[in-house]
Parts: sequence; C-alpha cells; structure tokens
Amino acid sequence: MDSQNFFLDSQKQLKEIANILKIKPEILRELEEPHRLIKFQIPVQMDNGKVKIFFGFRSQHNNTLGPYKGGIRFHPEVSEDEIKALSMLMTWKCALVDLPFGGGKGGVIVDPRKLSKGELERLSRGYVKGIFPYIGPDIDVPAPDVNTNAQIMAWMVNEYSKLKGKDTPAAFTGKPPELWGLKGREEATGYGGVVILKKLQKVFGFKPRETTLAVQGFGNVGYNFANFAFREGYKIIATSECEGGIYVKKGLNPEETLRCREEKGKIAECYCVGSVCDLNYGKQITNDELLEMEVDILVPAAVENVITKENASKIRAKYIIEMANGPVTPEAEIILEEKCVVSIPDILANSGGVTASYFEWLQSKEKKKWEREKSLHELSVVLEKAFEEVWNLAKKEKVNLKKAAYLLAVDRVAKAMKK
Ligand code: NAD
Repeated sequence: MDSQNFFLDSQKQLKEIANILKIKPEILRELEEPHRLIKFQIPVQMDNGKVKIFFGFRSQHNNTLGPYKGGIRFHPEVSEDEIKALSMLMTWKCALVDLPFGGGKGGVIVDPRKLSKGELERLSRGYVKGIFPYIGPDIDVPAPDVNTNAQIMAWMVNEYSKLKGKDTPAAFTGKPPELWGLKGREEATGYGGVVILKKLQKVFGFKPRETTLAVQGFGNVGYNFANFAFREGYKIIATSECEGGIYVKKGLNPEETLRCREEKGKIAECYCVGSVCDLNYGKQITNDELLEMEVDILVPAAVENVITKENASKIRAKYIIEMANGPVTPEAEIILEEKCVVSIPDILANSGGVTASYFEWLQSKEKKKWEREKSLHELSVVLEKAFEEVWNLAKKEKVNLKKAAYLLAVDRVAKAMKK
C-alpha cells in the first residue's frame, strides 16, 4: 500500500472535480486537507506486565453536512496519509447517499492477530481515551472498519459512556444489537453491494446463473457480498484473504466456505468444501491470480490500491464493483477505461455500511429499535436512489460512473459550504 500516493491521488481527484464544478479556491483549499488530524500514543499494559506504546490516528475531514463519520481500522500498515485519504472518501460517500454526516476515519498501527483478547480490549479502550475530547454523537461518530468489529465497538462505547458519565450509545455505530446496535448492520455493506449488483443486472441484463464473480477479501464485506450474491443465484468462482485464496470452477458456497475457514484457519485449505475433495473441484490461488482471472465481475473487497498500473492491463473482468475503499489507483482507472471495463465506485458500492450506521445512530438517539427487515429495506431504498442519480448523471454528462458519483458528492458539499 502506498498511502502517501493514496492521499495525493485523493487530492488530485478532488481538484479535477472542483475544476469541472468551478468550485471557489477557498472552498477547495478547505476540502483538500482534513479539518483536524489527531495523532496520539496509546499505552497498553500487555499480558506480560510490560507497557507497549501503540500509535493512533483520527482524521476529521469535513463536517459541513453533519458530524464527522467513519470507521476505525486496526492494521500494521495504517498511516497518517491513509487515514486522511479515507476520511476524505467518507465525506464524499455520506454526501452521495445524502446522509446528514461529514467524513472522518481512524486507525491504529497494530496487527490485532498478535494480541490477546485482554490486550485488544485495553487497546480499544485506550483509543477512546485518546480521542474522547474530539468525538461524540453530534461531533464525530466512529464505526468498525478493517479488523474491528461489534465487540470492539462495545468496548469503545462503554469506555466513552464511562468517561462521559452517562450512557451514550449514539457515540459509536456498528455495536452489537444487544447494545443499541442495528440488526442488519453487520451484513449491511455486503448487502448494499448486492443492491447495486441487482441494479446493474437490470441495466446490463446479467443472468445470475451464467455470471461469474471473484471476490477478493473474505472478511465482513467480502463474505457478506459473496453470500448475498450467491443467494441471488450468482456463481462465486473465487475468493481470497491475506494469505491467498481458492478457485472453484463450479462455484463455491460462501457459508460452507466460511465454516471450513473457521475449522481449518485458512481459505486456501478449503478447496475441498463439503464432501467433494479433489483437485479438479477447486485449487489454491494467489491474490494476484484472483485479480487477473477470467471472470465477469471482479469484486475487490479487502484493502486499497490492489489494482494498479502494473496489473490493470491484465484484468480480464468486464465489471468491477469496488467494495473496498480505494482499491483501484487513478493510473489503473485510465487503463481499465481504455479496456471498456465498467467500474462501480467505492463511494457508491460500499455505502450500505455508513447508511446502516446512520439508521443505527438514529435508533440509538431515539431509543427506538428497528427490525432487520426494515433496516435492509430502507437501505435498499437509499442505495437504489443513489445508483439512479449516478447512472443518470453519467449518461447526461457522458462521463463514467466514478466521475458522475464524485460530481454529485463534491457539488453537494461545496454548495452547502458556500451557503
Ligand atoms: P475485514 O477485516 O473484516 O476483512 C478484510 C479481508 O481482507 C480479510 O479477509 C483479510 O484477510 C483480507 N485482506 C487484508 N489485507 C489483504 C491484502 N493485502 N490482500 C488480500 N486480502 C487482504 O474488513 P472489512 O470490514 O471487510 O473491510 C474490507 C474493505 O471494505 C476495506 O477497504 C474497508 O475500508 C471497506 N469497507 C468496510 C465497511 C464495513 O462496514 N466493514 C464499509 C465500507 C467499506
């Protein structure tokens, strides 16, 4: 991951859009950098009794449309520039789906797999102590992201409430349903991606059973996307995680693959899913092989910058649904466009997560519980509308879907700032 370029690319992209929209220089200047970047140390008592210092970040990009909103990731490659870029992306995403939120993002440089449960809890609580003065239900509302989950949000919201001196469930989203979490939040990002897939199905006439998908990443987003797509009848022929993945010509069942992964510890060991277990049924592949395989729809759902100028010309998929944030670099985008690949931008494809977070924030504030069916139904209404707006603008302006999405989002933020 080249995070410095990720941020510079985000700024470059903003400038191009601002140029088309004729945004005033003072507004552009404000949007080019986050309003505030918090960098802090998190001392954590480790199980061996020693104190280890971790480094945390929170970037608050823009709050014109509402409180800063965005996830917290725990990853060894987290950096200041990565968090800044991702917080800017959140501003555009919330504006695109018309939520009353701005953009923020947080992270800690850590490999959580190397921590015990107790150490992970102390790190999560330490993160909240570090940013407590800067967050809150109407200021900045964090959520899960890579390697963080509902349990971590439960520790975090508990720590926030303790420091605040009162129960404050609306300070975080992505909490467990027992603690004012939204039923359906866990699977919302993947579900939202499949709402978009079904809109594409209508406009391009996909026949699910004849349409193959390769999904990179088998975490919250990748698994749920694969599972909902599978239930719609799509053929998932490959999936992967950090250590590699599997190719299954006949198509794999995501639920069985998840069970197998839990049992064997690695997806790559799961080419003998169920009772069938021979090499003709499935084979191990690398992440590069997954990205470059012959497939109809490629779904990067792991991390940023995986499709670059080095591998873009080798991509054989006709469609890309960007479920991860920033999976395609700008140089790669140009190459893909020349190859007539249709890409659904991240700020549209994965906006189901923040939309569900908005519902959770509302239910936490109003102390009214939503049923899962209601959450997923309302989510599809929001995403279908956003897709149609992007699609219609792309047709009208004769631009690709990414440009159309950015034109809509940046225009909404800039107009609000001007007012
Ligand atoms: P996760 O931690 O649950 O899963 C990440 C998956 O990606 C894992 O399977 C991991 O093994 C794999 N992975 C990590 N690094 C990789 C690499 N270098 N190559 C290949 N695979 C790799 O995270 P998630 O919540 O599923 O998030 C995935 C992406 O979706 C991220 O870009 C995140 O910002 C974005 N996203 C997440 C949500 C959400 O609600 N969780 C919402 C919007 C966007």
